[in-house]
Amino acid sequence: MERVNAWNTYDPGMLKSCMDLADDYKSFLDQGKTERECVDRFVNEAEENGYIELSEAIRKGRKLSAGDRVYSVCMNKSMVMFEIGTEPIENGINILGAHIDSPRLDVKQNPMYEDNEIAFLDTHYYGGIKKYQYVTIPLAIHGVIVKKSGETVILRVGEDEDDPVFFISDLLIHLSQEQLKKPGSTVVDGEALDLIIGSRPFTFGAEEEKGNEGSGKDAVKKAVLRILSENYGISEGDFESAELEIVPAGRSRDAGFDRSMVLGYGQDDRACAYPSFRAQVETHDLKRTSCTLLVDKEEIGSMGATGMKSRFFENALAEVMNLCGEYSELSMRRALANSCMLSSDVGAAYDPSYGGAFEKKNTSFLGRGMTISKYTGSRGKAGSNDANAEYIAHLRGIFEKESVCTQTAEVGKVDQGGGGTIAFIMALYGMNVIDCGVPVLSMHSPWEAISKADLYETYRGYKAFLRDASFTNY
Ligand code: MN
Ligand code: MN
Repeated sequence: MERVNAWNTYDPGMLKSCMDLADDYKSFLDQGKTERECVDRFVNEAEENGYIELSEAIRKGRKLSAGDRVYSVCMNKSMVMFEIGTEPIENGINILGAHIDSPRLDVKQNPMYEDNEIAFLDTHYYGGIKKYQYVTIPLAIHGVIVKKSGETVILRVGEDEDDPVFFISDLLIHLSQEQLKKPGSTVVDGEALDLIIGSRPFTFGAEEEKGNEGSGKDAVKKAVLRILSENYGISEGDFESAELEIVPAGRSRDAGFDRSMVLGYGQDDRACAYPSFRAQVETHDLKRTSCTLLVDKEEIGSMGATGMKSRFFENALAEVMNLCGEYSELSMRRALANSCMLSSDVGAAYDPSYGGAFEKKNTSFLGRGMTISKYTGSRGKAGSNDANAEYIAHLRGIFEKESVCTQTAEVGKVDQGGGGTIAFIMALYGMNVIDCGVPVLSMHSPWEAISKADLYETYRGYKAFLRDASFTNY
């Protein structure tokens, strides 16, 4: 079965909506390069759209009823939003779940050192990356340093035009005979991913003290530490309680003469987090309660308090049911099992330059709309949530009614590799879950690409889902 190209289905009005959505999406990508930055932006926008903080509603003993909107944040890195519907929550809710962490390099806890008058920050990569893609590109530092006093210093260096950037060196081609014989996985070693952050043994404006500072052991490192102290009030020990992420520097851009694509960092999975959030705030007057989950740590197995495997979501739902006057352990279990979820995660777009890795009948293509993946996993579907046929049929009806362009896909050829998402974790409750999102070219690379039409179709699909999904097993 051949799928239509979504661009061919647009009238001028839809084309404009599609391009406008992508413009706002790019501003989101530029503002939200880390999970914390994404949560910040989402919280602000949620509050502008009438969402109130769940903990505040609890404190004030506020009762919730149809039309009310609440959100809850976990450790500044993950978030859940609800709009209460007219039906009892026990009958099930409609959930969109995306992740807002992306592959990157994390700064180690004792990161600073100097080697031959160059100062470095040592890193440990986060998530699946091709290490060789991170050398010789401009990099930015984003994150927080929390001082013993409890004060949080927010760092974001390398994004403004006049900011300095940072980089990781690579061996010059002239001397690379040995290096280039290595397989791609080791051509750049994980421990070689150290960020260059300075090379001058004294700081600007400190020339008068050059005698003391400009020579001796680790003069460059000391000079950088002095800048950090003057600009941010932080000392070397403060890296111990910091979360600093090294990401590609610079804004997302339109790609192609026709501006049909977006090239940008972190589109796995912000290409789905963004339309999930939009769908959540733009869908009103619902029968079933709507919910959007924006979680951390998916790229490293959904562990930790802010990952999908934590009880954060379940606890928030219990609190919401309580404020609706509906809570009991049994009602909550029923609610979870009766719920419908789209695991909003990206798919692998067919790459003509590497066509051999894909099986073309069951692959998503750039521009053919929202990708639906019944299963993910690898080596015989291992580790996959394999969605129920009855549920898929229900969703097909919803998407068709709204003329959403969809395509079905798995991640590449059988036995070629694979991947996972948060789908299987939510399926543990016995709810219906399927992976559903935007296809991405060069996934997990510093600059991933998507089609604006796929973003738009996914946004339309998510809205239709929140409004119309009503499938239950029981
Ligand atoms: Mn993902
Ligand atoms: Mn990923």
